[in-house]
Amino acid sequence: MAVYPIILVHGGAWAIPEDMVESHLHGVEAAANVGWQILQRSGSSLDAVEAAVVAMEEDETFDAGRGSFLNMDGRVQLDALIMDGATLRAGGVGCVEHIRNPIRAAKKILTESPHVYFVGTGAERFAQEHGIELCANQELIIEREVERLREAKKQGYLQMPDEFGPCRSHDTVGAVALDRYGNIAAATSTGGTLNKAPGRVGDSSLIGCGCYADNRSAAVSTTGWGEPMMKLVLSKWAADRVEDGLAPQESAQRALYYLKARLNGHGGVIMVDTRGRIGIAHNTPRMAWALCTKEKASKGIVIEG
Ligand code: ASP
Repeated sequence: MAVYPIILVHGGAWAIPEDMVESHLHGVEAAANVGWQILQRSGSSLDAVEAAVVAMEEDETFDAGRGSFLNMDGRVQLDALIMDGATLRAGGVGCVEHIRNPIRAAKKILTESPHVYFVGTGAERFAQEHGIELCANQELIIEREVERLREAKKQGYLQMPDEFGPCRSHDTVGAVALDRYGNIAAATSTGGTLNKAPGRVGDSSLIGCGCYADNRSAAVSTTGWGEPMMKLVLSKWAADRVEDGLAPQESAQRALYYLKARLNGHGGVIMVDTRGRIGIAHNTPRMAWALCTKEKASKGIVIEG
């Protein structure tokens, strides 16, 4: 039976203001298109999600790569994970400060290391030894974020856990894809939360929390308030529901009900399974996402929650 490829990406779930809608739409659409080109040329879902996430890491609109939120020390500290549903191979990096595209380093770990997760200077050393050029942290910082951190500090922002509201900016990026060989993959990349404590790792790069892929269930990427998502291992939770028989759309919605009911969490989820069924859900006012399938060459939209 012919398998028709699919790629679905997100660029964060929160109250994206009107004047930022266009840049978010443009960013997710462009990223989905980059992944789609790979899938159309019979490339793998793994390569497609990596390329889509690189495109969003390169786009300063999002909280990934250059232009990410700054931590308390005024530094960019990045986390990313990529996972292959066919083999369950995974690669993740946490707290890297000198890698422009952390998802590329994560992919190198997946393909070239017996390990799954590297952090800090060890991750950077591994990346460099595998052909990834390091950069100065300063190269990842933009003026908009310096100003945003200054403002946040003035307000004492994010010193209290209940300040993580659903309208607060969450611009983490992610992608899930199905290729013509029937394999699925997922990838997520983030700068984490604004004014975070140095060394803090959120859900995005933790396996089963912000990202998961298994051909037997689904490929999942999340965005939102990371701590509750981590506690519930939310991506794996959503994938497991698909293995138990739920459609991805229903599973994505239930994951967010569960997140809200159990820990008052919020965010967004995207999913795809090997049958080409997708799931898109969020319990924030908006989420940026884009989808490419054979029927719809490209479609990006910000939907109301
Ligand atoms: N989940 C991310 C984190 O907590 C933030 C986001 O999705 O924007 O690090």
